[in-house]
Amino acid sequence: MKAARWHGPYDLRVDDVDEPRLCDPRDALVYVDVSAICASDLHVWRGHAPTLDRGTILGHEFVGEIAAVGADVAGFVPGDRVLAPFSTSCGGCEPCARGETACCEHGQTFGWVSGGRGLQGAQAELVRVPLADGTLVSRPAELPAELSLLAGDALSSALFAIDAAALEPGQSVGVLGCGTVGLCALVAAQLERPLQVLAIDASPARLALAERLGAHPVPLDERALQRIRARTEGQGLDALVETTGNVDLARAALGLLRPGGTLCSVGVHDGGSAAHLPPESAPGMRLTGGRCSARRLVGRALELARARADDFLVLLSHRMPLGEAHSAYALFDRHPGGCTKVLLQP
Ligand SMILES: [Zn+2]
Ligand SMILES: [Zn+2]
Repeated sequence: MKAARWHGPYDLRVDDVDEPRLCDPRDALVYVDVSAICASDLHVWRGHAPTLDRGTILGHEFVGEIAAVGADVAGFVPGDRVLAPFSTSCGGCEPCARGETACCEHGQTFGWVSGGRGLQGAQAELVRVPLADGTLVSRPAELPAELSLLAGDALSSALFAIDAAALEPGQSVGVLGCGTVGLCALVAAQLERPLQVLAIDASPARLALAERLGAHPVPLDERALQRIRARTEGQGLDALVETTGNVDLARAALGLLRPGGTLCSVGVHDGGSAAHLPPESAPGMRLTGGRCSARRLVGRALELARARADDFLVLLSHRMPLGEAHSAYALFDRHPGGCTKVLLQP
């Protein structure tokens, strides 16, 4: 089968590889209908994940159709249409029982193989899904496949971020970084009845999309703080969701908050994390965020996808054949303003 494999920084090739097989009675094999490139895949593409094995098939955002199931899979049969969160979960361990599926004791992330251990990704024609009953979710027939795909990562991550920000009605919330997760977070924030939702980004094209989604655009430049203060009676934001994956920006984001405000950081950070922020720089602030338990949130994410389908379809900016995966990564990496989500079709 064809699969997009990482061979080193900026070196992604679509190779012919052996099809995956059922390795455990709880496995399923899924024909991929469509996969997507996530901003976090770009970290790998650029070589910022030095422990990843060369030859790893990338991709953790996908929807597909069941090709085969192991003897112990009870919930799915061949032909079922499914979506997957970006990581697997058993549904039975202590963290899973609490809904913390991202911390599953048996969980693995798609597209992550290191030292010969791990799970191949879904930018391929076929993908193996361990713990199929705990991981996979049936896809609603009436929803376009691409919107179900968003529910597995971008939309569930957005809901996670807004939950973590713990907004109260009437508050002012900002989203710093209007990539796919940020744009989805602008929509999720509106469910909490805020006074206003501000979108902060340097790209005019992304700000235009944010405005279309109902947010007030704030260009990320030297006047950003001034503009935010002017809209919040000089106070600053009650909460800010940071999705950029840039530690310096996360640090700068503290300055946009009111005293005691909440910073929720969900970006995948290169070389550090928002946890490295100096506490003395924002007295009384709440710092939250982390890795989303997408499996728990998929149901709510699908509801939101259904309610705002027209808005979310606009975020899917590019569709390319899997065979052009290298060009697709290069395009997304260059971040032309209108490139929000690149879909790959086997
Ligand atoms: Zn992702
Ligand atoms: Zn578990």
